[in-house]
Amino acid sequence: MSSNRRHSDAYSFESMGLELGDILSRPDVPVDVKERVRALEASVGRLQATLDDTLESVRELSEAVQQKERRQHKLEQQLIYNRKTGLPNHVVMDKDILSILDEAERCPTRKTVAAVILSLDDRYDTIKQTTETGVREWMLYRTAERLKELAPANARLYHTRENEFVIVAINAGEPQEIAHLARRIVEEVSRPMKFPDYSLSVGCHCGVSQYPEQARTKRMLLRNADIALTEAIRRKRPVIVYDWKMGHDVIEKMELQNSIIRALEEQALSEIERQFELYLQPLIEIDSIHEGTVDYHTVGAEALIRWKHPQRGMVAPSRFIPLAEETGLIVPIGYWALFSATSELETWIGTPLEQLYVTVNLSPRQFKDEHLISNIARVLKRHRIDPSRLRLEVTENSVMDDPDDSIRKIRAIYEMGIQISIDDFGTGYSSLNYLKRFPISTIKLDKSFIEDVLINKNTQGIVRAILSMADSMGMNVVAEGIETFEQARYLYAEGCTCIQGYYFQQPMTIEAFRDTAISDARVENL
Ligand code: C2E
Ligand code: MG
Ligand code: MG
Repeated sequence: MSSNRRHSDAYSFESMGLELGDILSRPDVPVDVKERVRALEASVGRLQATLDDTLESVRELSEAVQQKERRQHKLEQQLIYNRKTGLPNHVVMDKDILSILDEAERCPTRKTVAAVILSLDDRYDTIKQTTETGVREWMLYRTAERLKELAPANARLYHTRENEFVIVAINAGEPQEIAHLARRIVEEVSRPMKFPDYSLSVGCHCGVSQYPEQARTKRMLLRNADIALTEAIRRKRPVIVYDWKMGHDVIEKMELQNSIIRALEEQALSEIERQFELYLQPLIEIDSIHEGTVDYHTVGAEALIRWKHPQRGMVAPSRFIPLAEETGLIVPIGYWALFSATSELETWIGTPLEQLYVTVNLSPRQFKDEHLISNIARVLKRHRIDPSRLRLEVTENSVMDDPDDSIRKIRAIYEMGIQISIDDFGTGYSSLNYLKRFPISTIKLDKSFIEDVLINKNTQGIVRAILSMADSMGMNVVAEGIETFEQARYLYAEGCTCIQGYYFQQPMTIEAFRDTAISDARVENL
């Protein structure tokens, strides 16, 4: 306020060198001039008041913008730092490593850069399955703390996957010294952790590689450390340092595996038809919630594959999709899902289901497939559906992996009239701000947020920020994994009305979906 006053002084008659009192008291000044002076003074006063108000609004506006920026920054931070350990994640590491290696390359004394990848062993998975979340989170936190203590002064530490950490150290010594450091790390991380009534321990393995000795190009540093880690796990050794023979063996193995896969692929295609089935899970829109009841209607469905294994019965996707992804078989399986979903959509034309859409999942490997765009075009040509009835779901990491290729593909898909959703949003390495570059219509909020949204203030903040940012970017949000009325009510109150979850409907056979959605559609039409 004081600055406003000073500002208004600048416009006063006194400061303009006019003695107002003199003018008004001099008898020779005509009355009408005195009145004009008074009127002039009054209007200057009004002008000043308006100016002050405007300045105040500008200040408030800039405060609001700064607050929004701070919130956005906080959200971005939450998405690039691991929530459990506070360490930077894979995205930060990818960025850092290029600049670290660039610097090492330019340095006349040739700096070395070592990468140590540490992976917790399967005891971690057992602990994960048998103890509460808090125990697991504490173990990860303690592991990170132990690593921080051991990491050399010039090293950077990243938490890249749930059970994986990476240390990148500049000029940390000869390969033997790095191997020694890695062995110390394994010893320290494996030391039991004490809880009030018991103690727990996890083992770990480390893969080591160093630039330029064991990795001639930048990209090879992490890849070679990863190969060394795979060897350490396979040979059950605490630490393995990469050597060139190891790389050769891995490539040979991969080639062999590929040729077996190619041979199996032909056979697999005919098996897919016999052994796989597509289920549909309704995506619903909440119309209103009152007195413990939710009014909603179905707007679409997600196609979810099921494997009818001849001996084991129904196998859940979580059991076989990662394996299919690893071997590459996901590509033919995924196309089968796409073809089946589209041919189902075609049968809906002219029925009450015509307005619904179906989303199909594209795995990271499928998204990378060079025939993706031409295959989607083929599907659309074969089944004459309205392309806006088909939607594709991709994960953040698929998109982030090769952003230039992703942008080209997403644009091509968008131009065909098909919308893209980002699946499991919040679990990967991207941020909404980054995703702005892509024509994406919807984000699917991962169920891990929904799990504790009612009890965790931090999650509530993230969910609210994601909803508000998505809204400001014109993206729709679907909340996944709603299992209770309270969760539905919470999200509805936060402005998220599109929901997928067991509370409303489980995934079901196509026939069951048709019955459910048709009765739903009739209710809608009443
Ligand atoms: P997703 O794409 O995120 O699919 C949603 C998963 O959440 C489905 O698991 C669904 O059954 C489950 N779900 C839905 N509502 C709830 C709920 O309220 N609570 C809980 N706990 N879970 C809920 P599903 O069918 O086991 O599929 C798992 C994953 O397998 C999918 O996750 C998707 O990534 C993948 N998948 C399934 N079908 C295909 C496919 O045709 N192609 C590809 N590439 N991936 C697929
Ligand atoms: Mg999905
Ligand atoms: Mg999902």
